[in-house]
Amino acid sequence: MADESLNNISLKALVNKGSNRVIFIESGHEFIDVLISFLTLPMGTIIKLARNHSAPLGIGCMKNLYASVKDIDVQHFRTNCWDMLLSPRNGAGPIVENLEMNIDDCDNTRFFRCSNGPCWTPTRLSYYNTVPCRCGNLMNIAVDVYAKAGHEVFVKGPVRLIISDDLQVLPPETSVSSSLLKKAGAMDSNTIEELSLDIGADEVFNLLMCSFVSKTPLTDIFLKRRPRSMFNKNIGTQQISINSRMIEEARNMYSEANEIFVKLIVSKSKNVVCYAEAGEDFVNLLFSFLMLPLGFILKAARDVCLKGCIDRLYKSVRNLDGRLWKSDTRKELVVRPKPSPGFCYQNHPLGIEEASNVLGDQAEIVDPLSQYYEDENEDSSLGFLKGPAMFMVTDSLVVSSISPILGLSVLNDMNVPITDVEVQTVHVGVEEAFGLLVASFGCESAALTSVFLRR
Ligand SMILES: [Zn+2]
Repeated sequence: MADESLNNISLKALVNKGSNRVIFIESGHEFIDVLISFLTLPMGTIIKLARNHSAPLGIGCMKNLYASVKDIDVQHFRTNCWDMLLSPRNGAGPIVENLEMNIDDCDNTRFFRCSNGPCWTPTRLSYYNTVPCRCGNLMNIAVDVYAKAGHEVFVKGPVRLIISDDLQVLPPETSVSSSLLKKAGAMDSNTIEELSLDIGADEVFNLLMCSFVSKTPLTDIFLKRRPRSMFNKNIGTQQISINSRMIEEARNMYSEANEIFVKLIVSKSKNVVCYAEAGEDFVNLLFSFLMLPLGFILKAARDVCLKGCIDRLYKSVRNLDGRLWKSDTRKELVVRPKPSPGFCYQNHPLGIEEASNVLGDQAEIVDPLSQYYEDENEDSSLGFLKGPAMFMVTDSLVVSSISPILGLSVLNDMNVPITDVEVQTVHVGVEEAFGLLVASFGCESAALTSVFLRR
């Protein structure tokens, strides 16, 4: 991953010599911007990066959704739209390309057009080279729309901020630094040491991965301490609590005209979901989690007991003084991050708003969910999968085509006799959709059980 053209970032850290822990880091906008940009990364991008680096990923069951998109027969997809789930575009668009260091290997300044001249007016561009144009050709000729220029992205240039070991971005005030020193029990200069750090793309990537599993990622990465919690078994089922305002907003946007119902195959004695039988509407919902930015999920998850500290990064950034930001719009990109235009389908139970077209009036971006091959007027609001179809979804969110033999083998693996099984039909509305989103992020297994049986 480490792109040789990228410059390393130099930082100063204050370390507690006794406990060998980072007390805090002081940094200019270069590193703060990189840290803040984590919140704009779509979940599919984070999982893709972890897979490319064979890094253990402490993100619940969402990695199983990603693997399912890869494994499921392409014939189930309505269009060549799997790219948008496996390699989603950042909703903050080409802006993140100005970061001093960008760990996302997707070039957000690159678009594609068709080779057929008459199709160029008005200018129509696609995110992926697998999307067909209305003329029948693939839109596969690369067009770079922005020149990259390294400069401040989210916070103002001259500002120096404090980053605590648990990734809180804090104002550079004496009260803040002294409170961190007190907390660390480092009260005199004998116990404190100043350390110069040179951070490259590998450290930034490791920091992101570590932030999902550790409360002390700076110490773990820069003092090379193996995170204690890295290989701990997860919390399992947990109480899920959702941002009620987001539920309210989504309810106002969502029409229950196309209600989603799912059949749960439940073990009566264990009170767990063995698996679910669901239509394409439910699987569309689950797959759509992959194109959502990390910040969207952290905003939705209220007081969820996460193993790591990435939620603290989100909260501290949300509370950061408005005057420190480059602009209100840039703050919105992080605090209320949205998926790229065209990435969502209509009437989504999470009430998702898409980001505005980053190309403005320059070009129309072709919706990857539209399929010009078959029917010019085909409704692109239908989601990723062809319907009607039936799928099996395990409690840890592995999705596959429905198969009674596979169903029996799941029961067998769980030691659940068929006599212990009960079928429950449940409704998936706005609240359940948010519950599933947060469970897919926070629970290593038992996502369906957490949402439908343990509330
Ligand atoms: Zn064309």
